[in-house]
Amino acid sequence: MLLHSHDPATGELVGTVAITPVDAIPDAVARAREAAKGWRDLGLEARAACLARAKEVILQRADDIGRQLTREMGKPLREAVGEVRSCGEGLHEELDEMVAALSPEVLHDGSTHTELRRDPYGVCAAITPWNYPFSMPHWMVLPALVAGNTVLLKPSERTPLTGQAYADCLQAVLPPGVLQVVHGDGAQGRALVDADVDLIAFTGSRAAGSHILQAAAGTLKRVLLELGGKDPLVVLGDADVEAAARHAARNAYRNCGQVCVSTERVLVDASVADPFEKAFARHAATLTVGHGLDEATVVGPMIDRRQRDAVVAQVKDALHAGARLLFGGDDLDADGNFLRPLALVDVPRDAAVRLEETFGPVATVETFTTDDEAVDLANEGVYGLGAIVFSGDTERARAVARRLDAGMVGINRGVGGAAGSPWVGAKQSGYGFHSGPHGHRQFAQVRIVSTREG
Ligand code: NAD
Repeated sequence: MLLHSHDPATGELVGTVAITPVDAIPDAVARAREAAKGWRDLGLEARAACLARAKEVILQRADDIGRQLTREMGKPLREAVGEVRSCGEGLHEELDEMVAALSPEVLHDGSTHTELRRDPYGVCAAITPWNYPFSMPHWMVLPALVAGNTVLLKPSERTPLTGQAYADCLQAVLPPGVLQVVHGDGAQGRALVDADVDLIAFTGSRAAGSHILQAAAGTLKRVLLELGGKDPLVVLGDADVEAAARHAARNAYRNCGQVCVSTERVLVDASVADPFEKAFARHAATLTVGHGLDEATVVGPMIDRRQRDAVVAQVKDALHAGARLLFGGDDLDADGNFLRPLALVDVPRDAAVRLEETFGPVATVETFTTDDEAVDLANEGVYGLGAIVFSGDTERARAVARRLDAGMVGINRGVGGAAGSPWVGAKQSGYGFHSGPHGHRQFAQVRIVSTREG
């Protein structure tokens, strides 16, 4: 049985992969367990040195993989090649950071000498989404391997070619069995979670994450979940409105809004709402929508019709309930997978588009009159991935940021932290996290080995 991958802009077939039969998964896990002993015994530094050789492979193939990524998933070619290239370019620094984070430590207290070790769990299932189909596997697979686990990667059924390309780059330098790929949809994902794996590293929707956590409970498998978001962008009354609007347009609509930390809700001080809304519409109108291979394209198509239908349904429900279009929306009933940036105002409090993840080129705009009200609005709902605050007064912005229930907050900028920061969600946006020394350590079992001292 084959999994077909189609260009979301044209519907053309881009390629196929063989689906992994669900009943073949236990044997694949057994092979991973067999390979785990040799990989573990190699030691931390030697594993990192082995993986370091993948840098050249990734960089050599980056242009071809990037082109295929655009054709499979739709994002502009520049961003697709950049996604692949950045995984190769930063690889050696990441490996160094992982080795430092996972190295043993020694603790003494005069009577006891303790080695604090960070050992592999064993076999890791890495299950990933389609919106960053090269870097998401990288974020889950690399730390799992460096920590000494063997890995079964299940890329999204919507981007299997890019997931396979990532695995090919690593398999070119790894011993056999250390990294395998399982292709298929939620059925293969569920079978992997139910199989004899020790760690599940998942990036995807809140609904699937919740299912995985429940499925893992029986044998207390270790679980890391990076889930969805409904990120607010708060524009305080003293903000540079033009800069806030430019940032909001970019962050709401890049990757066609299919980013976990997309701005989905703009909360703006009523005193600057009018100029902000005008500037937001102006900046959104500059984003050229088209095929990702066209050089002028800034926003590609949505991943597929199913995703587009779900987004349009949220928008139409809100419109029926009294919301108004600030801009966009004239192509809601068009054929195909393109959807131009749109924004809604006067959205009823209980509309799904206000608090449920939309994951498309849609933003809602609401007003507030005090910072307290802005914080209350921003903290509504179950998600808590990222948030952004725009203000001309950094101290005031920090005071607001500290009260936001989000794992990552950016002030007058995006949410990503300095080098070494984890990528982390609060509330129902995450359960465990990755990246940075704190994130790398979540892929390892802490053990202490003690002897009497003195
Ligand atoms: P999804 O949850 O539908 O699928 C993700 C992966 O899980 C796919 O490989 C899928 O086949 C598999 N899967 C689905 N159901 C499963 C189950 N019950 N058990 C095991 N595996 C299962 O998500 P998606 O549509 O591919 O991706 C979009 C979602 O990912 C959005 O919610 C987005 O916010 C989130 N995301 C989060 C981050 C982050 O860092 N927090 C990053 C990227 C995407």
